[in-house]
Amino acid sequence: MASDNFNFPDKEGFFGEYGGKFVPETLMYALEELENTYNKLKDNKDFIDEFYKDLSAFVGRPSPLYFAQRLTDHYGSGSIWLKREDLNHTGAHKINNTVGQILLAKHMGKKRIIAETGAGQHGVATATVAARLGLECHIYMGAEDVRRQSLNVYRIKLLGAQVHPVDSGSATLKDALNEALRDWVTNVDDTYYIIGSVTGPHPYPMIVRDFNSVVGKEVIEQSKDLFGKMPDAIVACVGGGSNAMGIFHPFIDIKETRLIGVEAGGKGVATGEHAAPLNDGTPGVLHGARSYLMQDEAGQVKDTKSVSAGLDYPGVGPEHSWLKDVGRAEYVAVSDDDALKAFHEVTELEGIMPALETAHAFAYLELLMKELDSSSNVVVNVSGRGDKDINTVAEIDGIKF
Ligand SMILES: *Cc1c(COP(=O)(O)O)cnc(C)c1O
Repeated sequence: MASDNFNFPDKEGFFGEYGGKFVPETLMYALEELENTYNKLKDNKDFIDEFYKDLSAFVGRPSPLYFAQRLTDHYGSGSIWLKREDLNHTGAHKINNTVGQILLAKHMGKKRIIAETGAGQHGVATATVAARLGLECHIYMGAEDVRRQSLNVYRIKLLGAQVHPVDSGSATLKDALNEALRDWVTNVDDTYYIIGSVTGPHPYPMIVRDFNSVVGKEVIEQSKDLFGKMPDAIVACVGGGSNAMGIFHPFIDIKETRLIGVEAGGKGVATGEHAAPLNDGTPGVLHGARSYLMQDEAGQVKDTKSVSAGLDYPGVGPEHSWLKDVGRAEYVAVSDDDALKAFHEVTELEGIMPALETAHAFAYLELLMKELDSSSNVVVNVSGRGDKDINTVAEIDGIKF
């Protein structure tokens, strides 16, 4: 049975029928070079030690698994635990992957780093690790996002990287990704492309998953220590899917743990105005991989809608598409309104302000806690902190500074 094969991806980079390498000929060599380097290093003790040393000294890992007392009392059933990725350096899970990939760039002797970014979080995480190693860094960002996320644009510039606004298409994340791929095609010899989620052509979905899997591995150990068994459910938001894949992956064989991914429901899945390809999409090819995708009948990529810039993407990582089809993970969607309500609730009840992306995962507790029995332990992956979203929330609440 396909679901018993957890050694995915296969040699061609497929998770079942999803994934692969749908790229121009000129990138095939670069992807193979990356794959060969990664396969050589991933089981090398010195490389692993270097990665974990950076995660500890620079990122601040391990992140706590924290008991949310007042949120637990609020729902009145089960126990809610928070995996605190918001406490990482730069405020989100994204740094786990950039710390890993910059080490690959170093080992490959690449002097120039490029990345795409949507809300700017991956741009910040990339510019941060490039600054640390003194490498030239270029960040591609949709012109619309440059306008909406001016604070992160400035953060990236302060870190010494250059921001390139992209005007094509809807001038958002998918257009920035196209432009970064174009740069890579032109400059493959000296350039390393750090992709920010479990998306893109093979081997990226595997590499980004593996570097983020430190999150799930820590949860296994922490669950044993704190409540003496495995969690009954893990809940994580899904944009491209890297924070979810990082916490899900070490649990794939631990069948007693339900894995629940929460997509951005925007104005509601039924309205079509959302960013929930696993709930309301069909398989297709985007950014070099086959996966669920929001597209019209002619295969044109549809516009997305979400209050959360980090979830505002029409595609999703191929491994999630496979986990959905084989039934190992469940994928639900939460509307903008419910996510905003959860943002306020968690902030007031716990003194922890989650990112708007993360607020989608919290919002699903409303339904989930009613379903589970009272002895259940639920882990929410707190993918990032909400400081970056204060202006968005203030505007919605009608507050002017
Ligand atoms: C980027 C981001 C996400 C969405 O990306 P994934 O690859 O789906 O994890 C979620 N939460 C935060 C805080 C982010 O910065």
